[in-house]
Amino acid sequence: MGAGNRIDSNTVLYGVIGDPIRHSKSPIMMNRAFRETGINGVYAAFHVTSDRIADFAAGVRAMGIRGVNVTIPHKLDIMSVLDEIDEGALAIGAVNTIVNDAGRLIGYNTDGIGYVRSLKEEAEHELAGKRIVVIGAGGAARGIVYALTSESPSRITIANRSVDRARELALAFQDIADIEAISNEQLQAACGQADIVINTTSVGMFPKTGETPIDAAWLRPGAVASDLIYNPLKTTFLEQAEQRGCRIHGGLGMFIYQGAYAFEYWTGQPAPATAMRDTVLAALQS
Ligand code: NAP
Repeated sequence: MGAGNRIDSNTVLYGVIGDPIRHSKSPIMMNRAFRETGINGVYAAFHVTSDRIADFAAGVRAMGIRGVNVTIPHKLDIMSVLDEIDEGALAIGAVNTIVNDAGRLIGYNTDGIGYVRSLKEEAEHELAGKRIVVIGAGGAARGIVYALTSESPSRITIANRSVDRARELALAFQDIADIEAISNEQLQAACGQADIVINTTSVGMFPKTGETPIDAAWLRPGAVASDLIYNPLKTTFLEQAEQRGCRIHGGLGMFIYQGAYAFEYWTGQPAPATAMRDTVLAALQS
């Protein structure tokens, strides 16, 4: 163990809250980041239930916990106990990262920007002018669509099983992007014209790994097929898209970079993303 995780009287505490939480890969990822950078911090997982959210916030302030990640089911209800919410998190309507600035709790959302950083580094460097199809309109889709609007795509098309939810999401960001909602019946035609197709639904996630959100024959060869799911690392959607001649992009990078942004907000230092990825990948494969 390197200097970063030698716990002493100056060690700064970080963590993640959720319900459930014991499956989380965030502690191994973040502790690797502290070791790698030599920062004297330690990161733990806390099982916090919804009825204890206010107690949790009081505890963070009282104990000087510097940073917390927030996962399911608390990304919305946490907002009511914070002192300030970043503009992006407010627009998305969810917080996944808290910075404790001398007792002031500030909420951010790094899911969407984490996804976009991963997409640009791993699959498609330039998003400007691209036609993007987003399948799904849940919590993760909201963050991603918001982050994509900053990249000047030519159009964002959202399709969802419950079309009302797709409409609501398109409406939320219609002033900042060319964005439309479609029904699943229109999805095939939209995919045929898309440069990037992103699955933000849970279709294909373990244990139902045989399922896929669309027929890969709808995709243009050469287009990017992207999936938020990282369990499995390569979903059936991505496997079939690859056979179709598409470039593929899995969900692991999103997880790594949402954590990397959180680390950077807390410490002011660049996150060691490669080391973080190696650690999570090894844990997923063991
Ligand atoms: P969510 O808010 O519950 O939304 C789920 C979405 O999936 C909704 O659009 C829902 O459609 C759709 N859906 C679920 N089952 C479906 C089915 N059988 N057929 C068609 N559509 C279906 O969940 P979320 O938080 O957005 O997460 C979505 C996925 O993203 C999950 O697989 C999650 O693991 C992944 N994710 C990955 C990361 C990462 O770091 N890589 C981060 C966050 C989330 P309806 O609206 O019609 O119900």
